[in-house]
Amino acid sequence: MPKKITILISACLLGEPVRYNGTDLSIKDHPLIKKWSDSKQLVPLCPEVAGGMSVPRTPAEISSGDGYSVLRLQANVIDKNQSDVSKYFISGAQKALELAKKNNCGAAILTERSPSCGSQQIYDGSFSNTRKTGMGVTSALLIQNNIKVFNQYQLEDLERYLCYF
Ligand code: SF4
Repeated sequence: MPKKITILISACLLGEPVRYNGTDLSIKDHPLIKKWSDSKQLVPLCPEVAGGMSVPRTPAEISSGDGYSVLRLQANVIDKNQSDVSKYFISGAQKALELAKKNNCGAAILTERSPSCGSQQIYDGSFSNTRKTGMGVTSALLIQNNIKVFNQYQLEDLERYLCYF
């Protein structure tokens, strides 16, 4: 019987309307999400809201870099009005890490393509709906701290990963 590992999860995936446009990306009806939710393994957080951003908010993308370069202060998160919102994204990532550590999270399920939560792809900073390989600020900080990040399309992979504990 695998040990019950707690999992940090993007709040928008659990139906909270916290995205930049006030919507969610709920997957709470997925059988694995239901299972982990019923066994109290899920710890929801929206890093951007935790970092001080409002709902709704101006969409933002990482300009010429990825989450790792934002954490190194070598790239910025810029919103569509050309404001530098990096400090909110870095603060949100730090809050996510604190919450994950407090709850002993062994993994995270974070929303793909977000400048905070993306882990395989993000948008390229041109606001032209162009994707590139890379990860968001929160994903980068969690991975730097040995918390494995999955996206909402990798729930079965996470199920297999949990069997190792
Ligand atoms: Fe969802 Fe993450 Fe964006 Fe918050 S920052 S709305 S949790 S994708």
